[in-house]
Amino acid sequence: VGFDEVLIYQNDNLKIHQLLLNRIQTNCFIVQKESEAILVDPVSNANAILDYLDSKSLVLRFMLSTHGHFDHIGAAADIIESGLVEELFIHEKEFGEVSKAPMYSALILKEKLIKPKLSRFSNILLKCLDSFGLSIEHAGGHTKGSCFLYSHNKEFVITGDLALNHNLKITLANSRENKNEFFEFVKNIEDNFLPHTVIFPGHGDRTTVKDELMYNEKWKYIRESQNGN
Ligand SMILES: [Zn+2]
Repeated sequence: VGFDEVLIYQNDNLKIHQLLLNRIQTNCFIVQKESEAILVDPVSNANAILDYLDSKSLVLRFMLSTHGHFDHIGAAADIIESGLVEELFIHEKEFGEVSKAPMYSALILKEKLIKPKLSRFSNILLKCLDSFGLSIEHAGGHTKGSCFLYSHNKEFVITGDLALNHNLKITLANSRENKNEFFEFVKNIEDNFLPHTVIFPGHGDRTTVKDELMYNEKWKYIRESQNGN
């Protein structure tokens, strides 16, 4: 199908699959518990995602996005169209961001993006996440409604673009980002997770809290600019 997939994580309870579906290395994750799956960031190419779920005989329970940027929601409308799920779950502060996604997708990826049906996080979703041993938390920072997912045992965090693998070339200053919120997020990760906690970033390979705290230039910039004022 023309994409790379890997089973990149496994513990007693869960498996995490990483699908690479565009040329800017945006991560699409499938979190699997037994035969059930939650799709996190339906990047693009719904057919590839659906084929993959099918090949592993996975039942899709929910689809959610860490935030509303075009490269994290591109396949959502087509997956809804397939009938497997009814909506894309996303923080309500991202609804405006999603509205801008079709324009950015056309501009940057030259791909048509249809705005998906959205829903704010429901109790049913939160209960389902809980049954997977997961919670979702609002952080803001990167966008107003950016959220991250983490496992209750602190083994891993799915950060969206609040973390990009430090090996990627990144822009340090983004005037639309909220530096205070971003700083609070990094501090939260430092204080409440472990050095070996695995980070599944918005872009690039899996990494760890320790490595990002040490080598992530964006995080460093955020922390230094906060301490400096
Ligand atoms: Zn983003």
